[in-house]
This record gives sequence, structure tokens and C-alpha cells, in this order.
Amino acid sequence: MKKTVFTLLFLLFSGTVSATNIEGMRVWTGPEHTRAVFDLSGDADYKLFELQNPPRVVIDLNDAKLTSSLTIKNNKDIKKVRFNSENDKVRIVLDLHDSLKSKSFLLKPAGKYGHRLVVDLNRDVKPQAKTVETVTQPNRDVIVAIDAGHGGEDPGAIGAAGTYEKNVVLNIAKELAKKIDAKPGMKALIIRTGDYYIKHRKRFEKARDHGADLFVSIHADAFHSRKVNGASVYILSQRGASSEAAKWLAESENKSDQIGGVVIEDKQDMLSKVLYDLSQNAALEESHKAAKSVHASMKSVVKLHGQGFGQANFLVLKSPDVPSMLVETGYISNPGDEKKLKDPKHVDKLTRQIAEGIRNYFYQSPPPNTWIAAQAKGKKHIVQSGDTLTDIASKHGVTLAAIKSINNKTTNKLMVGEVLYLPN
Ligand SMILES: [Zn+2]
Repeated sequence: MKKTVFTLLFLLFSGTVSATNIEGMRVWTGPEHTRAVFDLSGDADYKLFELQNPPRVVIDLNDAKLTSSLTIKNNKDIKKVRFNSENDKVRIVLDLHDSLKSKSFLLKPAGKYGHRLVVDLNRDVKPQAKTVETVTQPNRDVIVAIDAGHGGEDPGAIGAAGTYEKNVVLNIAKELAKKIDAKPGMKALIIRTGDYYIKHRKRFEKARDHGADLFVSIHADAFHSRKVNGASVYILSQRGASSEAAKWLAESENKSDQIGGVVIEDKQDMLSKVLYDLSQNAALEESHKAAKSVHASMKSVVKLHGQGFGQANFLVLKSPDVPSMLVETGYISNPGDEKKLKDPKHVDKLTRQIAEGIRNYFYQSPPPNTWIAAQAKGKKHIVQSGDTLTDIASKHGVTLAAIKSINNKTTNKLMVGEVLYLPN
């Protein structure tokens, strides 16, 4: 009698242990795909297949139990989610609006997530015409790729009041893009346009495919001390990090791919690594100039964190030939910074200065064939005490309107030491 009870208990117990619970589902939609993520209590034994008429994706899980209801509303790709379970088997059906290519994989725990099953539904997006033509066009605009960090599964850092970094930086990126587009000879390219994850590598590849002249990744990270605040600009370091904080930051940033849901890929082979390092050295020199210029421009409106400049091994900055920087717009873990990063006035001021710094960099180091290169051939004037804009304009035989336009000035105010570009 006792033995039977024991056996029964044992069976019940082992039954609960081996079953994987399906605890919930999240869906993220980007311009090229929809990603459905299922939270699991452990590893899963699953099979996925596609069916047509109507188009759908079926996921069968063995030794599984559904502990939450799965729903979806207003999705571009998934019309409906259906599920049923029987004898420790769960079937989930994703009814699609159109037939899509699916890809699925399991993820081990990362960040705040436990085990996950990821199902990517890829739309057949027509490959966009590369901008090689525009790059060789005379007097073309310089292209600034603006990357809002994190997104989708990866919230980034979470503020004291619960603000998600991914949302704050998307807003800042969009504001920055507006400021850049408003400048003559400059054009912005937003890398992440909504709430979905893009892996590090894809981010700079998109920038390169569009012929970007500069890549700027926008972040607002956290530190274990809430007191730490201020903005900083970072570039890649192929050796060590410039400080313990920079190292810590790069390590936490680099976890994004695991949290955002990326399967680890094969490492690059040796030859491509050598070529990669060579071209990256040149880009790194330009990255340094660009970052210094943005750093100098930001200094006038925001508190910088320490020196406000650092280097570390950030994966998102590893583009082999596009100068790249990462702007930490503040520490979201600091309640003061968190508030500021959500304040439209502060964001306006901050993005204006970042855009200004980017513009100054391009005037110092203009890419060939660009409108800015044509302007930068003109002379420069360093403002001395007593100078007025009208005097400078007449001395160099240019109109006041022209000098204001290329220097992006809305008023006639000057600062001693300010560099003015003189139109040709
Ligand atoms: Zn970040």
C-alpha cells in the first residue's frame, strides 16, 4: 500500500518536473519581419512547420503545458493565435495574413528572461537599391546613420521610475534625425524605426549598405550606483577599455544580442579578421575626430560624466569602414537624468548640440564629392573679441544670409573662438 502511494507520488512529481510550461508570448514587428517569443520554464522539445491555404505556422511541443492564454491584437503579419493541449502535448497555430518564411530557435536564459522559443516570420522584402550611385554623385549629401540602441525583446536599461532605455533612445534618435535633415548637405538614416530588435552586426551593415558616412548609436544606460549621471561619447577600442566604467558599459551593451534574441554565429575566419582590422584603423581615426567634435559640442549644454569621452570594445561600433561612435545621452538609472531624457526641451537641446558636433566634424573632415566638401574648401574665420557677423560677411565679400546658413545660425550672436565657415 505504502509502496503504491510512493510510486504514484513519484510519477506525479516526475511528470511536473519534465513538462515545460509555456508561460506567455510577446510579439515584435519590424519593417522586414515579425518575431514571436514564447517564454518557457525550461528547454523544449518542439517541431515547427508551415502550412498553406490558409497560410499558417504550426508549433508542436512535447512534454509541455500551457500555463497562460496566448493572444495577439492588430498584428501586421499574424492574424490569430490558436492553441490546444492534450496528453502533455501542446499545439500552437499562428494564422498569418500572408505566407511568410519562418525560422525558429531556442534561447538560453539571458538578462531578465528565462528560456525562450523564438519564431521569426520574414516578409519577402524587395532588396533596396544600394546607394552606390548617390555616393558617387557630385555634391551629394553626407549620410548620418542614427541607431537607437536595443528594442523589442531587449528593453535596455530600466530607469528608477521604470523608463525603458529602448523607448527613450528611439525618441532621441528621431529628434536627432530631424535636426540633421534640417542642415544643408546632411541627411539622416534611422537604423531602427520602431520597437523591434536588430542584432549589432545588422545595424552597421544597414548603415554601410546605405552608404553612410558616419554611424551614431544612441544609448542611455544604467550603472549600479544611482548617483552616477551625465553624458559621454565612446568609440571602439581594439585593445583595452579606457576605464573600468567604459569596460563595464561595453560588456553590458554587448549582452544585447543575447537578450534581444540572436543565435550565436560562427566566428570570422583569420584572413577576414586581418583585412577587417586594417580598414578599421582608418575608420577609427575618423571616429576619434567625429566623437571629439560631438563631445565638444555637447559640453556646452549637458553635464558630462567624468571626462565624457572613452573607448571600449563595443560590438555595435565594429563597422570595418564607417566611422562610428556611441553616445550615452545620460544614465537612466539616475532619477535626474531619467527625467531629463524624457523632457522634450532637454531632448531638443541635446540633439541640437549632437547634430552641431556632427556637422562640425564633416566640415573638418569632409568626405569627397559632398556638398560639404565643396563648402569646406572656403576659408574659415575664428571669431575674435569685437567681431560682428556683418563685419565678417562684408570683409569676405559674402552675404549675411549665406554665412548664417552654412553655419546654421539663427541669430547674429558670436562667441570668441567660434569657427565660422565662409561660403565659396
Ligand atoms: Zn544601451
